[in-house]
Amino acid sequence: MNSDREPIHIVWLKRDLRLEDHPPLRNALLSKRRVLVLYVFEDILFEDPHYSPRHFNFIKQSIKTLNDQLKSYNSKVLSVTGKLTKVLESISKVYRIEKIWAHQETGVMTTFNRDHELAQWCDESHISFEEHLQQGVFRGMKNRVNWLRKWDALMNETIIPTPLKKGVLITKRSIGQLEDQIPTMELEVKPHPKRQMGGSQYAVRYLNSFFNDRYRNYQKHISKPDLSRRSCSRLSPYLAFGNLSMRQVLQKTEYESINGNRSFALKAFGSRLRWQSHFIQKFEMECSMEFESINKGYQKLDKSLNEEYIKAWETGQTGVPLVDAAMRCLVETGYLNFRMRSLVVSFFTHHLWQPWQACAHFLARQFLDFEPGIHYPQLQMQAGVTGINMLRIYNPVKNGQEHDPNGQFVKQWLPELEMLPEEMVHSPWELTPIEAGVYGFESGKGYPHPIVDLQKTRKHATSSLWPLSKSAPVRKEGKRILAKHTLADRNSLMR
Ligand SMILES: Cc1cc2nc3c(=O)[nH]c(=O)nc-3n(C[C@H](O)[C@H](O)[C@H](O)COP(=O)(O)OP(=O)(O)OC[C@H]3O[C@@H](n4cnc5c(N)ncnc54)[C@H](O)[C@@H]3O)c2cc1C
Repeated sequence: MNSDREPIHIVWLKRDLRLEDHPPLRNALLSKRRVLVLYVFEDILFEDPHYSPRHFNFIKQSIKTLNDQLKSYNSKVLSVTGKLTKVLESISKVYRIEKIWAHQETGVMTTFNRDHELAQWCDESHISFEEHLQQGVFRGMKNRVNWLRKWDALMNETIIPTPLKKGVLITKRSIGQLEDQIPTMELEVKPHPKRQMGGSQYAVRYLNSFFNDRYRNYQKHISKPDLSRRSCSRLSPYLAFGNLSMRQVLQKTEYESINGNRSFALKAFGSRLRWQSHFIQKFEMECSMEFESINKGYQKLDKSLNEEYIKAWETGQTGVPLVDAAMRCLVETGYLNFRMRSLVVSFFTHHLWQPWQACAHFLARQFLDFEPGIHYPQLQMQAGVTGINMLRIYNPVKNGQEHDPNGQFVKQWLPELEMLPEEMVHSPWELTPIEAGVYGFESGKGYPHPIVDLQKTRKHATSSLWPLSKSAPVRKEGKRILAKHTLADRNSLMR
């Protein structure tokens, strides 16, 4: 090993793909050492069942933007593949890594284990490793006393500009030399016409267009499967992969509320931003939620896998139009609004009576904004296994009639139902043979009959879950969960 290796600091990027409001980058730049910005497309993530090419493409697009931004500083992100510690070992052959900076991540077990491995490697290699918070999520908390106070303090911190200047980053040329030794990642991707593009410039566009105009119908459209796509902020993938920090979005919201758009919509939006950290904090404090129901009283719930049902649900072939349209839309676009996410999970766990674990990975791979700390607590809430939330079994027909009254969303994603009048589109099985003949609709051909009887399965789910919710183990666990995970004032998130 070269003994005159230059001492450097590394900024290890994960779900924080931006240059602004980035304390690890800021601190590294103030270190007086040259800085290498690193992203590793880790083998463990390619192999992890939560991730799919759409996530890696979003990450690649985000890094391309960073590279454009770093051009004027004659640098770029070192984007490589492999195992993190092996990559660091390769870099160590050329540079003496003095310190690694990163953001703390509340992730799935795969990344949790990798973080431990990295900490141990740094220890053994005498390399200092420092993590900063980017969400209002605090490690080691036993309950929520003081959580909101700490969250407020973190989110109200002044955003200090990143002190980028020429000469402080490892140059493109030197990065090229590292690239000769470590397998690199090709960042060019073909944009998908129906999915959001990654990168801070897109994040800022969505942010600005929301506050300029789209926010106006936020509350009115939030539950509508098609209109919500315009009137909700659509910031979720940008927050999940850190193209924008939560602090940036919150401070902008605050600014707009005071100086510009005073509206109830912004209040409602601000509450949801708080929910993001609130849910991730739950997962941080009880990460076994990735595998088992948080309320142990529900762990013995008897549900057996039905591969045919699962396949039909995944491919939008259950014969229940709103569910199928939502699933096909999700697979194609990577996005659904909150209500449709809840509805497809409710249908899977209640009507199809499948364990929530059997849809967790598939949904994670489809949601472009996959965020483990929201995903798992929400899945469990919608599956009715927390014991602290009201059991809610969504009625897909009623939801369709209320939120897609013209059947526009359903027809867009299920062209097989194009010929039906709007009043029949959410329940085509109710057509009489004469009506079906008039519209040229042949049930079971082109579009399936419902794979389950909605009334019977709803009854079955209610009669199985309701008595269980009153059982001693569920109640005992409910008390434990309330004491650990809820805020003294549950309305405080709605400020
Ligand atoms: C089963 C299920 C799984 C989900 N998985 C994810 C996920 O992996 N990643 C994710 O970001 N959201 C998830 N959500 C929450 C929610 O549906 C999305 O955050 C929201 O639809 C994203 O759209 P938006 O950015 O336009 O939201 P907006 O309504 O504009 O909200 C702004 C931001 O607030 C946060 N937020 C909004 N609603 C919620 C909520 N209910 N809980 C926590 N935070 C919220 C998100 O960061 C969102 O981007 C899930 C919901 C359900 C029911």
